[in-house]
Amino acid sequence: MKGLLKNFTYLIICEKTKKAAIIDPAYAGKKLKCKLKRITAYLKQNDYNLEYIINTHRHYDHVNGNEFIQSNTNAEIISYNSGLRENDLIEFGEIRLKVIETPGHTADGICLYCDKNIFTGDTLFVGDSGATVSKDSDRQKLGASLRKLMTSCPPDTIVWAGHDLGKTKTTTLGYEQTHNVNSEEYRLKGM
Ligand SMILES: [Zn+2]
Repeated sequence: MKGLLKNFTYLIICEKTKKAAIIDPAYAGKKLKCKLKRITAYLKQNDYNLEYIINTHRHYDHVNGNEFIQSNTNAEIISYNSGLRENDLIEFGEIRLKVIETPGHTADGICLYCDKNIFTGDTLFVGDSGATVSKDSDRQKLGASLRKLMTSCPPDTIVWAGHDLGKTKTTTLGYEQTHNVNSEEYRLKGM
């Protein structure tokens, strides 16, 4: 689902246990808030139990749907700022999302890994990487974070980015190693 600034919001469901989590609920204006209402209605209709609202970082366009989703589900809001750290596992049903700390776009950035899928927030996009224009941005750290992703996850890991900015909706870590516009600057090639 797309929201403000072409944000992606991801809903992850364990079909077996009906437990679920949402990543970066975002909206812009009334019309898009309706899309969050569709998500909460969908959860209710299917008896899905939303346990977590996970934020990849604190930027407004990734967190502004938190309260709306929480008031409709009582899910817990979690992020780096609530205490998530490297290698923590977020568990709901049979799904385990592993936390990878990826500072650079902001100091509080995290990515979430599960079974060759990675949710990258604004750390990595299809063809590009996050801007480093916030007060706590750090390009060197962003480069180190991207190299960490490339070395700690398999190359065929599917990337689910925080914004719909690329030619395709998804990509893989291996593809981005050589094709990302910043792969040279961040020394991603040949890793
Ligand atoms: Zn951001």
